[in-house]
Amino acid sequence: MEETFKILVIDDDAVDRMAVRRALSKADVDVDLSEVEDGETALSMVKMDQYDCIFIDYLLPDYNGLDLVKQLQQLGMDTPLVVLTGQGDEQIAVDVMKAGAADYVAKARVSPASLARTVRRAIRLHRAEQAAQTATQKLQDSNDQLRHQNHELAQQQAQIESQNQELIKAYRLKSEFIATISHELRTPMNAIMGFSQLLLRQYPDPLSEQQLDMVKRIFDNSRNLLGMVNEVLDFSKIEANRLEIHPKEFQLSPLILSTIQELQPLALEKDLALAAKLPDSLLSLQLTTDPDCLRRIIVNLISNAIKFTASGEVTVRARQLNPEQVEIVVQDTGVGISPEHLETIFEPFRQVDQSLTRSHAGTGLGLAITQSLVKAMQGTISVTSQTDKGSTFVVQLPIHVQEVSNGRLISTMI
Ligand code: ADP
Repeated sequence: MEETFKILVIDDDAVDRMAVRRALSKADVDVDLSEVEDGETALSMVKMDQYDCIFIDYLLPDYNGLDLVKQLQQLGMDTPLVVLTGQGDEQIAVDVMKAGAADYVAKARVSPASLARTVRRAIRLHRAEQAAQTATQKLQDSNDQLRHQNHELAQQQAQIESQNQELIKAYRLKSEFIATISHELRTPMNAIMGFSQLLLRQYPDPLSEQQLDMVKRIFDNSRNLLGMVNEVLDFSKIEANRLEIHPKEFQLSPLILSTIQELQPLALEKDLALAAKLPDSLLSLQLTTDPDCLRRIIVNLISNAIKFTASGEVTVRARQLNPEQVEIVVQDTGVGISPEHLETIFEPFRQVDQSLTRSHAGTGLGLAITQSLVKAMQGTISVTSQTDKGSTFVVQLPIHVQEVSNGRLISTMI
């Protein structure tokens, strides 16, 4: 359907108005035409009604066209204005256009075709301007919104950063606290163990059977407790990046054999066979790495093997893999570890049985510490296991650990 344009003609000359009216009626546009003779009435009409296009005679009784264009602009009205000028009034035309008119038409040239063209062009131009204005406004709005969001994001980021700093501080304090407490706990634990050991000698006076049993329990429990405290202390050192490796030259076989001997009582208590299977070729093998750390790795793996094996045996094997590497294997015939737990057992505080009623004591830190020690010694640790059949932990280490600076290596975090 053809659009109808609402048009106002402001002209005091009835003949000129008729010319415009006729031209518009013959033009190829549908118009709803209003006519008015002076500027004042026109202004009040414009305040009340909305027009698509306004024709203004340049010479009105109360206004000249330029002033009226300015007045209409001041009203904040954005209807396109077309000024009707006399023949040869080009300067006037330029002035009214500068003042904000959309177009001008010389009265002498008013024809249906030219008027239709002028109306359409003025309205099209006006609508394009309006669309551009709306788009600019939208753009500005979304710009403002983005700026606002950016500001909020920056604030949130600053907040997260400060929370992060707080967390790091709290974490460090916690680690330092744990390190101090475990360190302090070791002294009384050592005293309890030392004195109960003295009592166990039963010298000068023998103990009754009941007393002997009680002192043995004191000794066993404090040994377990000390083991746990040591694990927590080791772990807090690792967390604080304070784990140090001191490489030295030593022989592997004696270290494995003496460690096994030390743990033999634990195996005997459970009637387990604990043995080493070492090839003769290993007897002369010299390592350059940290013997204390290696001993702790073997102790952790053998004690776990004993802890999680009810019957059967725990075997320690070792062999030289190649000129650079040695392999130590701790194998048991215990409960085994199911595949879904195999991935997590090296994480700190992870235990297959995490219930409070679990039958095996422990902190869940042993393997995390072991893995950190192995890493610090530039080696790798892996495990294979079958539920109810047993587990095999394999540690591969460089025979000569590479020195970093003045013979000391500081481990990285877990
Ligand atoms: P903890 O022994 O103090 O619980 P670890 O870090 O040494 O902690 O071991 C983590 C968990 O891995 C153990 O709780 C146990 O469930 C499992 N695990 C470790 N070694 C063995 C093993 N030889 N046989 C079966 N399960 C094991």
